[in-house]
Amino acid sequence: MTDITYFGEGSTKVGESEDVLDTTFRTMGTAYGFDLVEVGYASYKEFKSTWQRLGKQVTFEISDYLGGARPEVLGDFAQALYERIEKRAPACVYSPRLKAYLESDDFVRRNQATYLKRSRNLTKSSRGGHFDLKETYGRLVDSGIVSPSSNVSLNWTRSANRMRVGYCSVLMRVVAISSLLDNEKVPDFVHEYVLYHELLHLEDGLSDGHRHHPPEFKAREKQYPKWRESEDWLRKLAAHKVDLS
Ligand SMILES: [Zn+2]
Repeated sequence: MTDITYFGEGSTKVGESEDVLDTTFRTMGTAYGFDLVEVGYASYKEFKSTWQRLGKQVTFEISDYLGGARPEVLGDFAQALYERIEKRAPACVYSPRLKAYLESDDFVRRNQATYLKRSRNLTKSSRGGHFDLKETYGRLVDSGIVSPSSNVSLNWTRSANRMRVGYCSVLMRVVAISSLLDNEKVPDFVHEYVLYHELLHLEDGLSDGHRHHPPEFKAREKQYPKWRESEDWLRKLAAHKVDLS
């Protein structure tokens, strides 16, 4: 998936969207006892928002990935932030409505291309020098251990990362595999296994911590037919015990 431009029908224009953001955060800020609220969108690569609080003043920089969100969804996000600022919640707690939007196809269609553009270490192509991740993905789906999905973006990394051979953004439905594995001296099941691992994270969605590998996750990993061989290969690669030149 490259260069997707999405103009959803009835999508909010930028100016309009800034106004909605402003109104939403100011109105809620008043309810939380703030008398000066400043807010704007920021183009962070990751879905990240920041704030600075000084007494009864607060300034927000909100991830522009929320630019297309409906006012009530923005309201839920504002509330999650104010609750966090007031330390009424230990972490940002998202409402079911906000979570549903972040997990929707609409959110991915609006933001995935921008996220890829901001991800400088990705080739933005499934095709490597030796392996095509689209074909690998197809094999995993055909074998039945992965359920098909229409909005996953498959990429190789530009730098050949050795310690972190796979990466995913569950939110953006983006998977990246280290180009270290795109080598004829590395059997094809190795990158297939890493892709399988990342796709498991995508299947778990936002509810499951991205970086966590609980016992159930480990058990699912082992469903990969060449699990042990793959793990052995990854260990050898990490220890520089394979000549890839
Ligand atoms: Zn993982």
